[in-house]
Formats: sequence, C-alpha cells, structure tokens
Amino acid sequence: MVRRVLILGGGFAGLYAARNIQKLMGHDVEIEVVNRENYFVFQPLLPEIAGGAISAINAVSPLRFLTKAISIRKAEIDSIDPVAQTVTVFQGVQRRPTILNYDDLVIAVGSGSNLSKTPGLSEHAFTMKTLSDAQRLRAHIIERLEHADITRLPEVKKGTLTFSVIGGGFSGVETVGEIKELIDRSLRYYPNICASEIRVVLLEFSERILSEMPESLAKYAHANLEKRGIEIQLGVGVVEATGTQLVTSADEVIDTRTIVATIGNTPSAIIANMPLHLQHGRILVDQDFRAKGYENIWSIGDCALIPMQENSGERENFAPPTAQFAVREAAHLAMNLKAASEQMPLKPFQYKSKGALASLGAGCGVAQVFGLKFTGRVAWLLWRVYYIAFLPGMQTRISVLWNWLMDGFSRRSVVQITAQNNSETRHVLYRAGDRIYENGSR
Ligand SMILES: Cc1cc2nc3c(=O)[nH]c(=O)nc-3n(C[C@H](O)[C@H](O)[C@H](O)COP(=O)(O)OP(=O)(O)OC[C@H]3O[C@@H](n4cnc5c(N)ncnc54)[C@H](O)[C@@H]3O)c2cc1C
Repeated sequence: MVRRVLILGGGFAGLYAARNIQKLMGHDVEIEVVNRENYFVFQPLLPEIAGGAISAINAVSPLRFLTKAISIRKAEIDSIDPVAQTVTVFQGVQRRPTILNYDDLVIAVGSGSNLSKTPGLSEHAFTMKTLSDAQRLRAHIIERLEHADITRLPEVKKGTLTFSVIGGGFSGVETVGEIKELIDRSLRYYPNICASEIRVVLLEFSERILSEMPESLAKYAHANLEKRGIEIQLGVGVVEATGTQLVTSADEVIDTRTIVATIGNTPSAIIANMPLHLQHGRILVDQDFRAKGYENIWSIGDCALIPMQENSGERENFAPPTAQFAVREAAHLAMNLKAASEQMPLKPFQYKSKGALASLGAGCGVAQVFGLKFTGRVAWLLWRVYYIAFLPGMQTRISVLWNWLMDGFSRRSVVQITAQNNSETRHVLYRAGDRIYENGSR
C-alpha cells in the first residue's frame, strides 16, 4: 500500500526530508510538502542579501525545481489533529480552509522570532529570518543614506546614520558585517555624508561574540569588526526600543533609526497549539525523531528538541538548531521512516558537527573545519565554497556564484526597489452567493 507522507515546512529539514524519502522509498510513498512560500530560502545567505552582495531572486530556489515526483502545496499550516490524522491549512487568495490526510506526518516548520519581552522591540526592530526581512533591511539602509544626504537637521542625521544590531551570534555578526560593507561601499555616492558620521553598533548580552565558536576565532572576529569601525558592546542588553531610540542595559540612550534584532529565536508559533509534548517551546521527540507518544508523527529541524543521547539533560546533548544538523536529520529521518514502514528497528540519531563558519563581510571570515581553525580571506573563501556546495539546485548555485563574482568586480548597487502599497483600504467586488473566508474562519 502506498503511504501518504505529509511534510509541514519546506525549509532545510522539510525539503531535504522530502528528497531523501523520495530517493529511499520511491513508489511506496506519496509525498506532499506544505510551505508558506513556493520557494526554498537559504537562510545563511540572508545577511548577504541585506548587504546587497546577492540579489534576493538569485538566492532562493523554487521548491518545484528541487523536488521531482513530490507535490508542493503553497498554504498556511494551521493545526493538526492526530486522532483523525489530518492537518488543516489555509490556502488561496481567500485562505480557504482545507483538510489534508496523512499516514505519516513530518513537522519541520522551523523557528520564528519573539521580541515581545523587550518593550518596543517587536514594533521597531527588523528581524533576519525571511527573504522579505533581508529585502526590507537593505531598502531601509539605502533609505537612511538617501535621507541623511539631504537632511539639514543634525540631530536627525545623527539618528539616521546610527545602525544598531542586537545579538552577537552568527546571524548578528554576519548581518553587522554586511551592513557595514554596504554602507562603506555606498558612501562615495552620498557626498554630504562623512564616514566619521556613521555609527554601527553591535550589542551582545554575553561576554563575547560568536559563543558557538572557539574563543580565539571569536577574538579575531571581534578585532576585525572593530578595525572596520564597528563598535561592539559586550555584556550589554536592550531595555527598550522606540522608533528613534534604543535604551541599553548600560543606561545608554542610542539615537538610531535602524534596529536589527537577531535575538529572541523561538519555535514557530503554530507549534504551541499542537497537541504534542513540548519542551522549551519545541516538539519533544525521541532519538529516532518520533514525537513523544506517537508512532506516525515525526519532527526535525529547528522546531524539534532532539536528544543526542539517552536521558539528555544538558543543553549540549540536544541537536543544535542549525542547517547543518537539519540536513543530517532529514537523511536520518528518511531511513527511519523506511524502517518503520518495513517494521524494522529504528536507529537513534547521532551526529557530530563538522565545524562552523562565519563571514565577517569585506572578504574576511572565521572558520573551524574538522578541528582546524582558519581566519581572514582563507576562512571567507572556505565559507563561500562551502555554501556554494551546500546550496540546493544548480541554477541557484550558478546565480549566487555569478552575483559574488560581479560583486567583487563592480560597484554595489544603491537602487532601492520597494513594493509600494499606499492604500490603507482594500476594495473587493463580490457577487451574490460568493463564499468568503477570512482569517480565523473555519
Ligand atoms: C541569518 C541566519 C544565518 C544562519 N546561518 C547559518 C549557518 O551559517 N550555518 C547553519 O548551519 N545554520 C545557519 N542558520 C540556521 C539555519 O538556517 C536553520 O537552522 C535552518 O534553516 C533550520 O531549518 P528548518 O527546516 O528547521 O527551518 P526553516 O529553514 O526555517 O524552514 C521552515 C519552513 O517552514 C515554513 N513554515 C513555518 N510555519 C509555517 C506555516 N504556519 N505555514 C506554512 N509554512 C510554514 C517556513 O516558511 C519555512 O519555509 C542561520 C539562520 C539565519 C536566520
């Protein structure tokens, strides 16, 4: 009998799971992937999109290009019903609720951001999670430069040219490095802005940046960013944010019109309403990826809490939320799903990280690969080679490579394209008898 495998989420975990299951189980399964967008986002490249090194359209791949014999459903996942073995999604322009059946359910909906703990942050900070986050940030930075170039008010200019990034982990460090590179390379087109008027600040609550990396590499990254004019404040958090200011835990009030928050990672909001065992907001699974108490519900990627050994208690005994792990989990899941369908024993997941890489922008990076440490240009090249190899789809690889080559030889564009929607209201024409579904309809 053909088993119907429904995969929620088309990110690293979901996409690679679909491909691996298809490869291993072929005609024995019917696979459908449900995702909000019809494309796959390679999140590690988001800072480069924000910095303008890569154009957005070139850094994403249509899911339909990457999956053969796998159905793609562009829809918003709403809820699951493990008893009826169904998932409710909202799809189409009118967000029509649709019920999908499954024999096996794979939940891989990733994570989101929750900035609500700090007053004002959700309202005024940019996040760095989605393609539109990166696009919006780039457009915003260029808008600030345009404004600073023409304003005659010194206090406005000061806030406009102050860019703050919160969080010194991978995405914060890579984002601040790319923002600085974009600004540095754009300044020649803005004659009324002096380099000395630019302030780029990175705030990190702990005592060092890149805590996921060895201390020597973090120190190198710190010194490199400072040399390029980025101010790093360690042991400093954010107390409050407004549209024009940021108040730090060191009592500094920073006049800034740009706040990027790479903190507040939280599992996707829909998980909270699922009738599953959650721990720290993530789906608690066994070492074989089955959600606690269920035989046919599996979860991998950032939304799952995956123990790497029996009775895992410490944080480091759980699989970290990284793309590297998500892809390995996807391969392992396919093996276990096949084993389960053949009533064979399932294998516990075990994997040791092969290393970590971070780009600091401006042709510099830090890397630890198979225990060896690299810094500067070599690390940056390693970072690029690794990500080109890691990108799914030949077309995307070629596009990204081309973007990188062009970026090395040409000027960085300051074109600001934003989709404008000035109207506060929306008019829709209906005919008598039309059925209308709105958010929250059942
Ligand atoms: C800026 C940045 C840089 C990073 N750099 C690195 C790095 O260098 N190395 C590394 O290993 N990792 C890195 N990561 C982490 C890595 O990207 C994640 O760990 C990885 O994407 C997790 O994969 P996932 O499939 O679990 O989630 P995702 O890739 O986020 O995929 C989840 C998918 O589910 C979809 N989805 C969620 N909710 C719904 C819903 N309700 N309805 C429909 N669809 C939904 C989303 O649209 C998305 O497509 C980085 C992350 C960021 C943000």
